[in-house]
Amino acid sequence: ENKFSVKGEFLDYYSKKQFPLCMRHIHQIFRSTHHMKHGCRLQYGLFLKGLGLTLEECLKVWRDEFTKLVDDNTFEKKYSYIVRHQHGKVGGMIQYKPYNCMKIITSNVGSGEHHGCPFKHFDATQLRQKLLEYGLSGTGIEEIMNLVKDTHYQIACTKYFELVHHKPSKSVINHPNQYFDESNEILNS
Ligand code: SF4
Repeated sequence: ENKFSVKGEFLDYYSKKQFPLCMRHIHQIFRSTHHMKHGCRLQYGLFLKGLGLTLEECLKVWRDEFTKLVDDNTFEKKYSYIVRHQHGKVGGMIQYKPYNCMKIITSNVGSGEHHGCPFKHFDATQLRQKLLEYGLSGTGIEEIMNLVKDTHYQIACTKYFELVHHKPSKSVINHPNQYFDESNEILNS
């Protein structure tokens, strides 16, 4: 299989162009705070693995950012385990799969946490602001807010895809990695 794989050093680029809102938000928070809380580590770590990043690449992405705040040793002790775990190298040696939208939408997100689905977990003001920050027009934002009001989170994400790419996705978004793959087909084929 010759699946497109992403290199860790281009994540800033891809996060802006081709990540769904949930992952773009986590990536942005990770870059600005040099830290990811547990829920984000699970959701984002597996998404990166799904993009084709190897264990070594994932470790490098995490290490480079976390060690802006903590030393190498602390990183190894406190944060590297979960990455190895996600790649099936320690613990139960299970090849974990990236979360789909349903799992993300139904997850619990406490205050001060950044995982989850922004269409579901952000309040209206926060979501509007985020969509504006990411360059959507006023009418686009209102279309999305109406879908969100009716709890159609994945349809809202599908609309977001269409507005960002100026082209619809082939099907309703039900997985963050599907979002990325469909984006890739439009932008890189
Ligand atoms: Fe992420 Fe899915 Fe929510 Fe889109 S609908 S933002 S891909 S969790």
